[in-house]
Order: sequence, then structure tokens, then C-alpha cells
Amino acid sequence: MEEEKKVKAEKAEGKAESAKKAPAKKAESAEVKKPSAAALKAALAQMEEQETGKKKNTVLWRVLSFVMWALAVVAMYLPQIGNLELPFGALRMLVLKNYTPMIIDIVVAVALCIGAALLWKKANHIHPVKSHNKIVQFIWNQLGLIMAFLIFFVIGLVLILKNDKLDAKTKKIAIAVLAAITLLVGSVSADYHPVTQDEVDKITNEYNIDTQDPDGCFWTTYGRKYHLYNDCQALSNTTEENLHHTSLQEAWDNNRGELCSFCAKKAADNSLSDTTAITPANP
Ligand SMILES: [Zn+2]
Repeated sequence: MEEEKKVKAEKAEGKAESAKKAPAKKAESAEVKKPSAAALKAALAQMEEQETGKKKNTVLWRVLSFVMWALAVVAMYLPQIGNLELPFGALRMLVLKNYTPMIIDIVVAVALCIGAALLWKKANHIHPVKSHNKIVQFIWNQLGLIMAFLIFFVIGLVLILKNDKLDAKTKKIAIAVLAAITLLVGSVSADYHPVTQDEVDKITNEYNIDTQDPDGCFWTTYGRKYHLYNDCQALSNTTEENLHHTSLQEAWDNNRGELCSFCAKKAADNSLSDTTAITPANP
């Protein structure tokens, strides 16, 4: 009995101690938190917009995303909502046992959803979510994933269960197929490197970005992106006459508006300490 008590007390002490330690550890890791590659790319994209005056129309991309999501719903279910009897729609084709058009409808819907999510992510990686609210940030950044779940699973589940023209076995198979499609589209649509405007502002505030530094970046005659390192793996096949070594400003003026992802990752991993155009504001 005594022994047990002692063990319990020790355990409690251990817990209290680790609880005390935990916040300190957390603060430490927050302080040395490296900038993310995606935030660096967004910060440079925003700086390019400022310097060149050419704004990327991310609002239009977002509108297009919603149009594509809406069309995906049409391709999957519209003729099955209410008493519409239109000659398309995956679910209607399933009821009619018309499988080739059904598969075409599904493929179209999948392509629309993936396209919408990629466009949405592309917009977010230039003009990220401004809200400080974690829930808003999650919904905004993972909207592609949420839409895939809503369109292929939630709406499908409701309409299939409500449908009285399908037998139980067909319903089961249809729901399993929808679950598989949801997983596939969701995994492509999720944003694995979400960015917030706060992270972008942190980079802009804590680092000096010298857009005029003549050693700022590298780009090639045929490539669309620019690089921070001339030993970047994407440049390994570039001949010397096709490699340009200029300031960021000059790269942007030559329509190289996007930082290479390999270079972004390398720079972020090194906390932007080994690039000439980007240096810590308070070294
Ligand atoms: Zn690169």
C-alpha cells in the first residue's frame, strides 16, 4: 500500500515536472522556428507584385475554383436532385445502368475537383489567408480537401441513401466507390504546406530582401522560374550561355516570377542565412 502511494506520488511529481518543462520547450522551438519554403515563395511573389506593379489575379482563380466545384456537382448529381431527368449525371446514369457515361461523368468530376483544388492552392501560395483564426485558416487552406469530401462523399451518400430506384447491393458498392474517390481526390487536394499571411509578414519583417543585389538569383533562357543557388539540381543540365545571373528585379522584369521549389526549401532549411539577396534583418 505504502509502496503504491509512493509510486503514485513519484508519478505525479514527474508529470508536474514535465508539465513545467513543456511550455519552456515550446517557447524555445517557436523562437528558432524556421521560415517555411512556401511562405518564402509567397513573400517573394508579393514583393514581385509590389515592385513590378503586376498583380496576380488570385481572386479570379478562386472564382474559377468555385465554378469548377459547382460543375463537378452537376456532373455527379444534378439530374438526380429533385425531379430533373436530364440525360447526364453519374448518379442518374447509375440508376439507368448506363455505365460508360457514368464513368465519363465521374472522370470529369474528378478532374474538375482536382483542377479547382490546385488552382485554389496556387492562389493561397501567393496571397495566403489573412485571418489569425486557426479554424478559418484550416478551412481556407484545406478547402480543396473539404470540397472533395462534401462533393464525393456527403452529397453522394445522402442522394444514394434517399434513392428508391437502387437496390441495397448497388447502394453499398456505390458508397464504397465514392469513399475511394474521396480518398483519391482528397489526397491530391490537401495542402501539405499551408501558408498564412502572418508567416509571410514574419519573413518580410525579419529579413532584408535586396531586389537590386546583382548576385541575387539565377534563371535560364528556357525555364520559367528563378533560383537562389547556382548549384540547384534543376540547373544541372543548363549550359553556361543559357544561365543568367542577375538581381531579383531583373529576373522579375524578365517574367521569371516564381522561385524554384528546391531553392525555396534549401533557403528555408538554412534559415535564409546563405543567400545573398535575402539576409536576416538583425544578424
Ligand atoms: Zn532552384
